[in-house]
Amino acid sequence: MEYKYNYLKKLPERQKDPETCCGSTKQGKKYINPWPSATPRAAAKNSNIGSEFLKAYIKNAFVEREKNTSLKVDLDLKSINEYHEDDKNIAMQLTWLGHAAFLLQINTFTILFDPFLSGRASPISFAGPYRCRGRGFKKFSELPPIDFVILSHNHYDHLDKKTIKEIYADKRNKKRTQVFCPLDLKKWFVGIGIPEKQVTECDWWDEHEVIRIPESVDITNEEAINEALNSSSNRKITICTVPNQHFSGRTGSDNNETLWAGWVIKSQDITYYFAGDTGYRSLPDICPEEEIENYPYCPVFKQIGNIHGPFDIACIPVGPVIPPHMMSVVHTTAGDAVNIHLDCKSKHSIAMHWGTVENLGVDNIESGPAELREALDKKNIPHEEFHDVYIGQIIKLEKKN
Ligand SMILES: [Zn+2]
Repeated sequence: MEYKYNYLKKLPERQKDPETCCGSTKQGKKYINPWPSATPRAAAKNSNIGSEFLKAYIKNAFVEREKNTSLKVDLDLKSINEYHEDDKNIAMQLTWLGHAAFLLQINTFTILFDPFLSGRASPISFAGPYRCRGRGFKKFSELPPIDFVILSHNHYDHLDKKTIKEIYADKRNKKRTQVFCPLDLKKWFVGIGIPEKQVTECDWWDEHEVIRIPESVDITNEEAINEALNSSSNRKITICTVPNQHFSGRTGSDNNETLWAGWVIKSQDITYYFAGDTGYRSLPDICPEEEIENYPYCPVFKQIGNIHGPFDIACIPVGPVIPPHMMSVVHTTAGDAVNIHLDCKSKHSIAMHWGTVENLGVDNIESGPAELREALDKKNIPHEEFHDVYIGQIIKLEKKN
């Protein structure tokens, strides 16, 4: 049977409450992180940590990409293309494409999260953070058609114009691929030529049911749609938008004018959480380990766990973290990534936002996994519960029964 339509149905809104289901908040034109955990910290007194960071960052920014050979990635395109939604055993298949980019195959849908899959994460081509790892495929025609592109926010290392254009240049995706993005980001997509009806803007806690409707069904007839829905649960998923602690901006003058978010995908078999780019708590540059817990943490991960958890699998960022007074507000240390893993009730987490993009901060690009294992040891959590994967690695989750 041919399946033509991805039918979107918005579910009723949840009652917002700062304690249990915190809604997005704006001050004037700008979104804010409405929690004490996002309080900015000054650089340590008598320290030049801020200016040292800036100097190192600017120096690194002008390193020519070509001097750093892009490391090859092996992507198992056969497994990706042979994934089949009717497989009796497999509930979902998740492939890390580097940084925050994941390819999720769940039920009949192929979803790309935060696809920064080109050269520079920067408005200019000759400077800025860059991908120093390959992506494992040359053209999008080598991948299955993309049903959804889901974005956490508009920073260059997550929202990449080159990759988005490449996706839509593939004729199978042109009319098919739907974008899900946080509030106020639709105009960016429309501005680069994506039809408005193919972009869905979402607020924190929005939920959309997505149903693959057979071509034969008249989509103007609600009864026919409902019938199609009830006939096959494995042609349906729910896409939920959830809060996180971050910021947005691309031009220098548009700071926080668009929202940031994490995402939850649910099927009849699996619950998946993509935390996006996020901080957990704001720390000063110098903070003895025993004092960390004195600083407030972001409450939304527990809210997400209570409302949508437990999760069968979660993708949680680790780093960059230097210098702490600048980075901790918007990024997570390995220790705080473990806290997110616990708060959201994840059974199995994957570390992301490391190992791919050079000069995103001044941290070593390989930082993340070793620190994560240390943080897990401190809480007696087995390493298998929250681990790193290699770029191109595929994780398959089996159906429960
Ligand atoms: Zn970001």
